[in-house]
Amino acid sequence: MTAVVIVGAQWGDEGKGKVVDIYTEAADMVVRYAGGPNAGHTLVVGGDRLVVRLIPSGILRPRSACLLGQGMVVDPETLSTEIAELERRGLLVDRDLLVSDRAHMILPYHVLVDTLREQGASAIGTTKRGVGPCYEDKAARVGIRMGALRDAARLRAGVEVALARWAPVIRSLGGGVPAADEVCAHVRRFEGSVVSRLTDTGARVDEAISAGRRVLFEGAQGALLDVDHGTYPFVTSSSAVAGGACTGAGVGPSRIDAVVGLTKAYTTRVGGGPFPTELEDDVGELIRRRGGEFGSVTGRPRRTGWLDLPALRYARRVNGLDGIALTKLDVLSGLSEVRVCVAYRTPAGETRDFPIDDLARAEPVYQTLPGWGPVDGARSLGDLPASARAYVDLVVRESGCPLFLLSVGPDRAATIVARDPWDIPRRAGG
Ligand code: GDP
Repeated sequence: MTAVVIVGAQWGDEGKGKVVDIYTEAADMVVRYAGGPNAGHTLVVGGDRLVVRLIPSGILRPRSACLLGQGMVVDPETLSTEIAELERRGLLVDRDLLVSDRAHMILPYHVLVDTLREQGASAIGTTKRGVGPCYEDKAARVGIRMGALRDAARLRAGVEVALARWAPVIRSLGGGVPAADEVCAHVRRFEGSVVSRLTDTGARVDEAISAGRRVLFEGAQGALLDVDHGTYPFVTSSSAVAGGACTGAGVGPSRIDAVVGLTKAYTTRVGGGPFPTELEDDVGELIRRRGGEFGSVTGRPRRTGWLDLPALRYARRVNGLDGIALTKLDVLSGLSEVRVCVAYRTPAGETRDFPIDDLARAEPVYQTLPGWGPVDGARSLGDLPASARAYVDLVVRESGCPLFLLSVGPDRAATIVARDPWDIPRRAGG
């Protein structure tokens, strides 16, 4: 087994940091392939907390190379800050931290547009870090790629073209248009720490796979936020599904050996958009408090609700999941009963599918199970209380996704590994 994709199977924030950390213990290379500084992982280094937004969480493991792939959008300022923080902690000694020279650069005008839009009536709840406008420029073919940091004239020419396009938008939103000189001077402050790390990361990933090294592709956000497969238009601007690892890291589908989907034992969502199993009562509040469901980038309270199995089946399909890592089971401990959405009632009848294009008219059909007591001490499935075990079995059976990992607490030890994705044999012909 050499290439594993780990991907959010819900609306993001599924506890990726912990699970990626466990899987990267055996990885030689960790690659982020989509999104930008709108992701956020809290890393704990010797009791010291550090939030990384761009750099993969694999950075905590001394042996893994960390790559930022070409499907990402990178803010050079955020990247430089993260590099400095990691250097200060001695985490970048003798290791590769490489950035694709084809990843698109987030520039101050992207952040400005994102912020101004979020102040208006058309706000969708972005993290205001310029991610959406940067991907707009990429699709409009006026984006500036990280490689432009090597060439001041190219950078300047690109900024002028993009600014001319954004100026009317910025003005119409009530903002002031920055000067091209100002933008370039700002960005060039970060050249020193970034340029030496720029490379064709796709080639490096390909070499690593060919050499039989273990490569982990770390997805950002979750399948239901994917620009193609998510709850459009309340989605992110990039490919948050497993297929995004191919375009975003620069490898072909035959190179991927396994895909693991992450899901919490309940559901959360940040920002606007449909969320049929949402709880707006005391139970929802309890889950938010117990689960620490506040955005790691924005601090915003997350919306909370019951687990949605039709949504998980949908995530299985669009990602080709080989199985799931189920997290935060402990957060539901102590509830007298737990509900789980198993189907939807729609105007056309009951369905086990996720009616993603008509969620407003779909009503969840719940199954109610007895609750359970503490589970955070469980170290094998056999240690779980019977009702917790029944819940896990139901999720596995109804989603059609075998269990790879069960997380029963924030600590690393509070983890039950049912199956190791690195043990899956390499795909023939890959
Ligand atoms: P991520 O960005 O996908 O890692 O997700 P979050 O921003 O929601 O961060 C995960 C938070 O949940 C971190 O503080 C973890 O320590 C914590 N966490 C991860 N797994 C578990 C779990 O199984 N139980 C509990 N109670 N907390 C967990």
